[in-house]
Amino acid sequence: MKFRPELDSLSPYKPPRGTQEAAAEKGSGSAESTAEYVKLTSNELSFGPLPEAETALKEALPRANRYPDRYAGLLRGEVVAANPGAAPGNVLVGNGSSEVLLNLLQLVENPGEVVFPWPSFGLYGSICTVLGLRAKQVPLTERHEIKPEALLSAVTADTRAVILCNPNNPTGTYLTLEAVRDFAEALPESVLLILDEAYHEFVSDEAYRGSEALAFERPNVAAVRTFSKAHGLAGLRVGYGLAPPEVADYAERVRFPFSVNLAAQAAAAASMREREQIRGRAEFVIRERDRLQEAFESAGLDYIPSQGNFVMVETGPETFERAGVLVREGEALGYPVGWSRVTVGNSEENDRIAGALPAA
Ligand SMILES: *Cc1c(COP(=O)(O)O)cnc(C)c1O
Repeated sequence: MKFRPELDSLSPYKPPRGTQEAAAEKGSGSAESTAEYVKLTSNELSFGPLPEAETALKEALPRANRYPDRYAGLLRGEVVAANPGAAPGNVLVGNGSSEVLLNLLQLVENPGEVVFPWPSFGLYGSICTVLGLRAKQVPLTERHEIKPEALLSAVTADTRAVILCNPNNPTGTYLTLEAVRDFAEALPESVLLILDEAYHEFVSDEAYRGSEALAFERPNVAAVRTFSKAHGLAGLRVGYGLAPPEVADYAERVRFPFSVNLAAQAAAAASMREREQIRGRAEFVIRERDRLQEAFESAGLDYIPSQGNFVMVETGPETFERAGVLVREGEALGYPVGWSRVTVGNSEENDRIAGALPAA
């Protein structure tokens, strides 16, 4: 059969360097030695779901013979309760925030182009390719920051959407709400502004918060969030978005029916209710992120000050693998060989990272 030629540029997701591979380089490929590795490659939380989420999961399982609530009403309700000013008609849900991003990009006119900074999240380019939209990447500054003026200059009459990953993965750099607001005001209303806020819980600068207000004020702004990071539910695949009612309405039209499964809806709704606990976990991650950054500093390693649950640092993955820690290699993320993105883990895992560093 003949395939769409643009799909040839898509390669299947390449997982991070495997434990086997790392162990082989460490000089021992035995099962015992590979089992000792901790995985800090994918910005997951090192803790399981909240107990309340586990309870909700267990309670949901006997109903697994039934389709879930197609509208995900309970989850929507919890998202509304957690975001003052939101109504159920402002909420998007999805099978991970990946699906929310897909659904948003399915709404814009085609052909056309999508502008986003680079390096950033690799999924944006893949979705564009699948949908037949052109990805237009705008380089970060020398300080690894998003430059709103550069993004604006890249916008043309063909631009259908701009994606701002804020804070940006893999750099951890961010824009304040004021900068995002200025950007939104300067952008033509015909262009959809997608704010990917997968890491918003880990931002310690208060001047960042409140983008949901933009989604309620403006006709063309959507904030996208996930349960995969701070909520520790990456395995269940659930994300959400906040957008103007018309955008949310169209997103619901293209969404696959029942895309958020029963277990995911139950666990995410329960986790969303526990705002203080989630905040406590995020505060732990922020403290540990500071500790790691200080350790990099002491070791004389260049790193990018981060507002995510990860830090990009100028040393290769081998540095960490020697201490039994797997990290994401920079070259998989648009950075040169010799950089790594390290996920902030639990205390013991972060001790291992700090212990792996060369003395300055
Ligand atoms: C991890 C991550 C997500 C989350 O994707 P899910 O589909 O919700 O698991 C989204 N955007 C960025 C930039 C991420 O790093």
